[in-house]
Amino acid sequence: MEPLLAPLPADRPPVTASPGLLDRHGRTATDLRVSLTDRCNLRCTYCMPPEGLDWAPASTLLDDDEVVRLITVAVERLGVTEVRFTGGEPLLRRGLERIVAATSALTTADGRSPETSLTTNALGLERRAAGLAAAGLTRVNASLDTVRPERFAAITHRDRLGDVLAGLRAAADAGLGPVKVNAVLLRGTNDDEAPDLLSWALAEGYQLRFIEQMPLDPHGAWDRSLMVDAAEVLASLATRYHLEPEPASVRGSSPAELWHVRRGEGGEPLGTVGVIASVTRPFCADCDRTRLTADGQVRECLFGSREHDLRALLRVGATDEQLADAWRGAMWGKVAGHGSDDPSAVGVGQRPTRPMSAIGG
Ligand code: SAM
Ligand code: SF4
Repeated sequence: MEPLLAPLPADRPPVTASPGLLDRHGRTATDLRVSLTDRCNLRCTYCMPPEGLDWAPASTLLDDDEVVRLITVAVERLGVTEVRFTGGEPLLRRGLERIVAATSALTTADGRSPETSLTTNALGLERRAAGLAAAGLTRVNASLDTVRPERFAAITHRDRLGDVLAGLRAAADAGLGPVKVNAVLLRGTNDDEAPDLLSWALAEGYQLRFIEQMPLDPHGAWDRSLMVDAAEVLASLATRYHLEPEPASVRGSSPAELWHVRRGEGGEPLGTVGVIASVTRPFCADCDRTRLTADGQVRECLFGSREHDLRALLRVGATDEQLADAWRGAMWGKVAGHGSDDPSAVGVGQRPTRPMSAIGG
């Protein structure tokens, strides 16, 4: 008979270690990213080709009950305190509200509800924001790289900017704030738009964060020399605004470096802007994430190729403690850093075996 559980890595965490998701570099993962689908209704050029990708067959995807079971194991046995739903496009998942409600009803080790958030392109959010808030969703992060309709259509291959803006407004109105807007700047496409994006976000009351483009596209087209990096984003913003860095002590494990924005030195504070320099200033040493793909694989890191099959365990009848133990074993092996900006480092280039949309951004 086949063994129920795949063997754990020989160097699994010592039994005396914390019951949570500790790794051998001393980090503990408490932030779970759950991908609910690898599909999407946009085709952002840096993420998906216009024809789409080879979607995962339905039979390989976790159903709603399986997703909730694994989230329950993570929150109730493994110390996870934050759950973010992503994809692909998580709003394409019919059971999203049910999954959010079941997650919000869980209790963390310190007796609270886990924080639940959604990373979304905001298409359809206008209709669903109130329901998601009622289900217990705490916050929304939306992706928007331009506020110019023709550029939006060029970047996403869909003429839907109006729907996205309506979705953002609905999220804010439903109390899913502060609404954070993530933008990727692409050389020759929207790399001149950073100050305009910031002016728009400040006026709308959204927290804008720029993300460096990462080597996570399906076609391997990422080119380090073309990437608009954090330094360039900040220089561009400084042409219109005065920026003051938030003290590092306030940042914690957040990937975003925050800047306070003023019109000029000593001027009125207008808000903040974030920069997520995943490539040039990686925050691996403070990483507190663990990831679950839509087909039930645990990923200890976005980069690299290692996946640990919880779906197989779940479908042969593993107990919650066996699932938790396998998850702990997976995280124990987390690499110290992804080194995607260092072509000479071991494991580089750590180009992942699956694109971002299939892992969960
Ligand atoms: N569809 C949802 C969305 O767009 O927010 C969730 C999934 S998407 C993969 C999550 C985030 O990853 C988005 O903010 C998107 O801009 C970002 N993203 C996708 N590919 C990227 C890349 N190669 N480099 C940096 N960010 C990327
Ligand atoms: Fe879809 Fe998000 Fe990828 Fe854009 S970034 S194609 S919205 S998954």
